[in-house]
Amino acid sequence: MSTKVWLVGAGPGDPELLTLKAVRALGGADVVLIDDLVNPAVLEHCPQARVIAVGKRGGCRSTPQAFIHRLMLRYARQGKCVVRLKGGDPCIFGRGGEEAQWLQERGIDVELVNGITAGLAGATQCGIPLTLRGIARGVTLITAHTQDDSSLNWQALAQSGTTLVIYMGVAKLAEIREQLVAGGLASHTPVAMIENASLPEQRLCRSTLGTLQDDAQAFGLKSPAILVVGEVAAYGAQLAALCGTAKSA
Ligand code: SAH
Repeated sequence: MSTKVWLVGAGPGDPELLTLKAVRALGGADVVLIDDLVNPAVLEHCPQARVIAVGKRGGCRSTPQAFIHRLMLRYARQGKCVVRLKGGDPCIFGRGGEEAQWLQERGIDVELVNGITAGLAGATQCGIPLTLRGIARGVTLITAHTQDDSSLNWQALAQSGTTLVIYMGVAKLAEIREQLVAGGLASHTPVAMIENASLPEQRLCRSTLGTLQDDAQAFGLKSPAILVVGEVAAYGAQLAALCGTAKSA
């Protein structure tokens, strides 16, 4: 009897960015629990499965995490092959770690399947190289949204010399600007705001740290979006045009 739960990343949205392993897991699934950032188009790989939507978008009606845990456990104990399908990568701001641990503590085998995380996908789709020799020696993935309102060490981030990729930042633009400028980043530091990365409706808003709130408002920036902060955010206009997917403001 199979009691495995697959925690699978569905990638940023473009169904072609799904991994082969994710496709295989979906093909064997009896039950698929799907988050609302997942593109439903990927469900073509699991026509046999029962699909249950368990989305949790900020501010909207959401399925409590404890209920999702119990659902996965119940189906796994029935011997069903369960796929928990999440946007991007399950372990990047996706609670993959929490869910895996909770299931393992109850004797359920867990298999984690990578997905392409939205921050990396969005930058590349817009022709923005997150690392660039001589310009950016690394990348830091952060979220501006914390459950307990604990603060990030913005000064350390500002001085890290790495490109910052910020998730869940649309409602926190003022704080991001204030903290990073106070931490030592120049207000003319380039910023790229990428909405609906990798989907046909992807949009790119180029800005700077000092003007990002006004620019986002004029652009009508909406979630889901990621922010790329750093010199590399000014790159890629030509590459993006070649890509043909990104629309510049
Ligand atoms: N596990 C996901 C992240 C979930 S947190 C991943 O690895 O991508 C949700 C946040 O991810 C959103 O608020 C947004 O900041 C970002 N995000 C997810 N999908 C996105 C997309 N297609 N385009 C832009 N940002 C996205």
